[in-house]
Amino acid sequence: MRYVQIDTQSNPHSNTHPTTEKQKNLGKVLLKELKKAGITNAEMDEYGYVYATIFSNSEKQNVPVICFCSHIDTAPDCSGTNVKPVLHKNYDGKDIVLPDDTSQVLKADNYPYLRNHIGGDIITASGNTLLGADDKSGVAVIMEAASWLLKNPSIKHGDIKILFTPDEEVGKGTAKIDMEKLGAQFGYTLDGGEAGSLEDETFNADGAKIIIHGVIAHPGYAKGKLVNALKIAGELLNTLPKNEWSPESTEKIEGFVHPLHVEGVAEKATIEFILRDFNLDKLKDHGEKLMHLAGEVISKHPGATMEFTIHEQYRNMKEILDKHPQVAAYAAEAIKRTGLDVKTESIRGGTDGSRLSYMGLPCPNIFTGMQAIHSKLEWIGVNDMVKSAKTIVHLCMIWEERS
Ligand SMILES: [Zn+2]
Repeated sequence: MRYVQIDTQSNPHSNTHPTTEKQKNLGKVLLKELKKAGITNAEMDEYGYVYATIFSNSEKQNVPVICFCSHIDTAPDCSGTNVKPVLHKNYDGKDIVLPDDTSQVLKADNYPYLRNHIGGDIITASGNTLLGADDKSGVAVIMEAASWLLKNPSIKHGDIKILFTPDEEVGKGTAKIDMEKLGAQFGYTLDGGEAGSLEDETFNADGAKIIIHGVIAHPGYAKGKLVNALKIAGELLNTLPKNEWSPESTEKIEGFVHPLHVEGVAEKATIEFILRDFNLDKLKDHGEKLMHLAGEVISKHPGATMEFTIHEQYRNMKEILDKHPQVAAYAAEAIKRTGLDVKTESIRGGTDGSRLSYMGLPCPNIFTGMQAIHSKLEWIGVNDMVKSAKTIVHLCMIWEERS
């Protein structure tokens, strides 16, 4: 509840690292707390990354170095200024009206997972902002597990690295990670939802950009000359299928193509898309289909031309994790030891772990309990966070036992 009150919203339009300087305000608090807990080498770098090590207390020399990671920023979709967390003790199963905007009602019918928390404590925001459980719940459970391990030296573990990253929500969470300084072999992000969930698969993600060049002329004397790029852009968007191939019409393992930004003038218009699929071949197909559609529209307008580019954003972590099956298997074992059923899931998105996996740190994602993220109705059950912290401790023990 302390961490969420610090505004750490990241900014997709910023080119600095971190994208917003205020993210360091939480970094500073974490640094102080890590040092107070007895971690001597905790540091925050100029980019806002916080690194720390809990040193091995095992006689075994071969215990792999594992890392626990969460992001300190909150999503730009919803205000993160003046977050006022509300603790609802002993939840009674009824709808929760948020105090600062009573039109914001957390309904048990819309969020059936609330019923799992009857009798437990729930944290919500107050109605005007998101809560920031994504991913400050991850920060909190890592901090809790770290302080518990330091207070309980009889629990044997290898070197454990802690990493807090800025800018995950704007796709730059791994941009400035120093992998050498981190020095870990395997990692886990704590950035997932329902208790027991373990995510080892993410989308493959590309971005596509279409620049449409029209032909400009004085509008008073444009007959037979002007070709309006804006109208072509509109036509192209209208050509996209209405009931398939979009985020609003797909779920589970289906991929999609999604226009997310358009800008321009009569002479030139640019449309940006994101392309997503779990299967890499299908992702490539989406790109080709989009290029084909765009080409057809352009060809109907003599004089108009287009530039079509695709760039890689991130790749499905499963391909890497399958080469190191113990990473996800130990996480599943740790979740079971906390008394939960394991729910292995695919993320219809990416996590820092997708990129980390391809940067040499195989890194599935573990639950913290966060719900209704990126919205004013965001909430989390305290018991889920407790189980998440316990999962971390069990994971440290399992890596030591199996070495
Ligand atoms: Zn997150």
